[in-house]
Amino acid sequence: MKRIAIFPGSFDPFTKGHENIVQRAIPLFDEIVIGLGVNNKKQYMFDTESRIKHIQSLFPNQNVVVEAYTGLTVDFCKEKKAGYLLRGLRNTNDFEFEKAIGQMNKDLNDIETVFLITDKEFGAISSTIIREININGGDVSQFVTNLNFLIINK
Ligand code: ADP
Repeated sequence: MKRIAIFPGSFDPFTKGHENIVQRAIPLFDEIVIGLGVNNKKQYMFDTESRIKHIQSLFPNQNVVVEAYTGLTVDFCKEKKAGYLLRGLRNTNDFEFEKAIGQMNKDLNDIETVFLITDKEFGAISSTIIREININGGDVSQFVTNLNFLIINK
């Protein structure tokens, strides 16, 4: 059976921290589906199509695909026949939050969550802070590869 993992998130934007988690997970799985969760009630800073193209530009010719999805992540896992969820951990806040979700997903849906701890140099990078810097005119290029792919929602 193919080992397929979903890496879910809003990725608004996809940062060097996310990129690092996916790069390190490539040898662990046959396929990684980066699932861009879209909640129609939520306002995103970066246009969804541009976020997909941006992530695709980072992983050419590898077993990594990018897809947007709505609804529950577990339903997306079933659709993709994925048995694993991939998540990154930066600190104890991430850990507490992820622990409850991971345990529930295991009990309810028999999905294993695989956690990778962030490499030291990416531990402080967060999409929320990047959006804050960006909205105030700061330069975020050191935190996001291929920033030029991203289009700001008007
Ligand atoms: P969400 O919408 O679920 O908060 P994010 O787009 O913020 O999604 O993040 C998706 C995943 O990437 C989560 O597992 C999060 O902990 C992880 N992550 C975010 N930033 C980093 C980072 N700098 N290093 C490692 N993992 C990260």
